[in-house]
Amino acid sequence: MFDTLWRDRLDQLAAEGRTLTLWLRDDDAVDVTPALDRLLTLCERHSVPPTLAVIPEKTGFPLVEYLARFPTVEVAVHGWSHQSYSKPPAKKQELGNDRPLPVILNEIQAGLGKLQALHGQRFVPMMVPPWNRISSEIAEQLPKLGYRSLSVFGRETSSPLPLLNTHVDIMNWRGVRGGKDAETVYEELVSYLDQPVPALGLLTHHLVHDEAAWNFLENFLRMTAQHKACQWRRASQLMAS
Ligand SMILES: [Zn+2]
Repeated sequence: MFDTLWRDRLDQLAAEGRTLTLWLRDDDAVDVTPALDRLLTLCERHSVPPTLAVIPEKTGFPLVEYLARFPTVEVAVHGWSHQSYSKPPAKKQELGNDRPLPVILNEIQAGLGKLQALHGQRFVPMMVPPWNRISSEIAEQLPKLGYRSLSVFGRETSSPLPLLNTHVDIMNWRGVRGGKDAETVYEELVSYLDQPVPALGLLTHHLVHDEAAWNFLENFLRMTAQHKACQWRRASQLMAS
């Protein structure tokens, strides 16, 4: 039902000559894996340009060489090691106030430097904090370190630097840890047509997709790529506008 509603609402936008801007952020890439290949092949088939939030610490040349096949893929910074330093029951967080600020700033400066050196043209100076959490003290320092954008989850709020958020996560992290059922994802998507955001961000995690997640993604990319109301954009294009 919500998938039909979604389609109807897009048809309506198209009839009014309006467009919906979309972007895709995929988290946790480090290395070349069958799951990454599946994601990028799928995106390429539908001309959707994904932004990979890459964990800097352990990544290297194999990913750089592999990405050469995909000219529209962009790379952003996903923390440094993707390790949580919070003390349970606090939620997991790498970029929180659990360690001295200079230690953290050194890491995220190194992360930007490393990924920029490795990925050159496809690198975007965007911080994607692991678990979508960052303390305001750290966020305030990002511009000084060369970051031009911050990407977390949910509606954009005020921030020390421009936000390019994701809004709809295709994974269900509670319970089964598989893909959400498609109806739930479409219901969330429709809610963002009711109260629009500058660019609607879809969040994926290629390493943990089950077949439900892959199926949704395949159908969603095919549907939106062919729809007149939809325009998929790279992070760099949205950061520039
Ligand atoms: Zn992550």
